[in-house]
Amino acid sequence: PGEQFRLYYQPIVDLVSGEVYKAEALLRWMHPERGTISPLEFIPLAEDTGLIVPIGDWVFRQAVHQVRRWRERFHPAFQISVNMSPVQIRQENPVSVQWSEYLAHEGMPGQSVAVEITEGLLLHVESDIDQKLLTFRDAGIRISIDDFGTGYSSLAYLKRFDIDYLKIDRSFVQNLGFDRNSQALCEAIVVMAHKLGLKVIAEGVETIEQRDFLIGVGCDFAQG
Ligand code: MN
Repeated sequence: PGEQFRLYYQPIVDLVSGEVYKAEALLRWMHPERGTISPLEFIPLAEDTGLIVPIGDWVFRQAVHQVRRWRERFHPAFQISVNMSPVQIRQENPVSVQWSEYLAHEGMPGQSVAVEITEGLLLHVESDIDQKLLTFRDAGIRISIDDFGTGYSSLAYLKRFDIDYLKIDRSFVQNLGFDRNSQALCEAIVVMAHKLGLKVIAEGVETIEQRDFLIGVGCDFAQG
């Protein structure tokens, strides 16, 4: 109600063409007295209180309006990804159905949005997670696995669920300039993902060396 939330969009660069036609929506709280409050501080509270659900819906609607403008202005295939908390997808009232309906109502194609989930969500095979992910899928909404490789990774879910993107966690990207183990892991993730028909987005790319290495192993996208 105070309109203190802002969305910032971090570009996701196509490593082959250098084009930007994807971005991740990141939420910030601009507090009138305390200044910018990090999501690390307020998201856990929002999850505990359940406020994450209306906040997440707001983020989604903002992203849909933004992606419409960017599709008209920059690239017809522009796509914005939004982060989804396990609390949002587990709630009774299926967010997957509401979001799909909202997109249809706005006349926007499903692939204009990607939903980022963490691998932990897929590990505990909850009765209806499959169904909820299928609802996104049926609406054409894309699914990304965020922070890939840092949670309790179960490779079984990669074939079980219909996933579009793996996002290599920044902790693997950070040392790419000099650490052979990080190099091996990144390359292996790219090879595995491609064999499974998934695209790869590297997170936390900040140097030319990291970028060049990722291009060399065929990684599809990079974000900062
Ligand atoms: Mn994310």
